[in-house]
Amino acid sequence: PSHNLYALFRNAFGKHLERTAIQTDDGARYSFADLDQQSARMACWLESLGVAPGERVVVQVEKSVPALIFYLACLRAGVVYVPLNTAYQAAELSYFLESAEPRLFVVDPAKAQALGELAARLNVPHVATLGADGQGTLIDAAQSQGTDHAIRDVPADAVAAILYTSGTTGRSKGAQLTHRNLSSNAQTLHALWGWEPGDVLIHALPIFHVHGLFVAVHCALLNASTMLWMSKFKPQQALEWFAQATVFMGVPTLYVRLLQEAALTPERCAHMRLFISGSAPLLVDTFREWQERTGHTILERYGMSETSMLTSNPYHEADGPRIAGTVGRPLPGVELRCMNQEQHPCAVGEVGGIEVRGPNVFPGYWRMPEATAKEFTSDGWFRTGDVGQVDANGYVTIVGRSKDLIITGGYNVYPAEVESYLNEIDGVVESAVIGCPHRDFGEGVVAVVVPQPGARLNAEHLIEAVKAQIAGFKVPKRLFFVKELPRNVMGKVQKKALRETYAHIFD
Ligand code: ATP
Ligand code: MG
Repeated sequence: PSHNLYALFRNAFGKHLERTAIQTDDGARYSFADLDQQSARMACWLESLGVAPGERVVVQVEKSVPALIFYLACLRAGVVYVPLNTAYQAAELSYFLESAEPRLFVVDPAKAQALGELAARLNVPHVATLGADGQGTLIDAAQSQGTDHAIRDVPADAVAAILYTSGTTGRSKGAQLTHRNLSSNAQTLHALWGWEPGDVLIHALPIFHVHGLFVAVHCALLNASTMLWMSKFKPQQALEWFAQATVFMGVPTLYVRLLQEAALTPERCAHMRLFISGSAPLLVDTFREWQERTGHTILERYGMSETSMLTSNPYHEADGPRIAGTVGRPLPGVELRCMNQEQHPCAVGEVGGIEVRGPNVFPGYWRMPEATAKEFTSDGWFRTGDVGQVDANGYVTIVGRSKDLIITGGYNVYPAEVESYLNEIDGVVESAVIGCPHRDFGEGVVAVVVPQPGARLNAEHLIEAVKAQIAGFKVPKRLFFVKELPRNVMGKVQKKALRETYAHIFD
């Protein structure tokens, strides 16, 4: 059997080639045969260009179905697919192009000239265009190719894609994912989340990131399920589709936006089977409000570019409840442990660095041997950079990232703990707790709070309220109100940016 991830998908949907694979919000429809044939044409074109297995193709284009088909084409051809966030500008792109050294760079037609010049300067041999409307030189070139393409046989440990991490804690690193990494995770999630015939997925996420590209797409393809496809998230469109879909995957901000819609009711969601959240922490309030408004309990899971998914709250009730604020148990086949500062495994409930091992864990960062060596232990565990704890039932709770951990006067403060107390206060929507340079304490705890519109909150009162509940060293020394927290498109709070904003408040 082939190890090519595309062969796994082809095998799964091969008996349903006439079925609708994708239905878009602007009325276009693609069958599985369309995906298969168009990806074959694109793969033939890649081969005609001389892009060899293992060589990289960097793609920075708007979300579209042809863009997704191009991902499948790269898999078929054994070419390494490297998607980039559409927000990245020229200076950032130089970094990615120099790092990835692609044979081909696919860009938006509107940026073709500027990026073509950049590509020429960096010796990228080929540039093609692909627009939001699915038009461009890539499509034109592929149309002149045949549909006869044999899926390339690749070793299981061949790299299928490089995902650059979101850059939340520092410069983005290229996580290499092998065909085996991706296929094992896809099969695990497909089984764990109870995918069944007739499931229909609403695809509302960007496709340059692990959540939209791998988790959502792979589950749907493995299940030969129809995807209802939005190029940009529109709450009203999602609500309309809830009547005919069964699975929705979102980052927490999508749930927050849906909750603002009066039309969100239990009746609206009656056809839905499963709501999944991840990529950033889901607020306990959002979890509860969703239950009240829809009758559904959001299933929160946890993962990252380097590993795909790692943990999930239970799907079946018999396996336990979905618990707000936790990310559930390690997936079957995934080992997870927390290690304390003495490098010993943590006791139940003790907080430590999360380390993981399993067939889903990447082999290393692209061309960063030092970073790779640093993040793997000598016995092969990957240090995720997240800090958490595991309870007696095996549920994992993330308390923050090791880089966001605050050390004040020699004591550790986990931001998520302080945030959870602040978030419980009436009139607080959400908060971010950070450490800022402090002459006496090293770092001082600072809270940035988003009040509800119209709420009359007072910084001193909030600090007093927290002081009544937790140890003094954890209590914010300063507290600021903001209208919203800085977030990237995946809904991740940019604590790096907050630390810069408040860098000098203790000067
Ligand atoms: P960088 O590694 O460049 O700093 P990043 O870690 O944000 O950026 P991603 O790989 O996109 O890049 O994100 C993975 C991270 O997202 C995880 O390490 C974790 O901190 C966070 N995350 C994902 N799912 C959840 C969740 N359900 N709850 C809390 N955090 C989550
Ligand atoms: Mg990371």
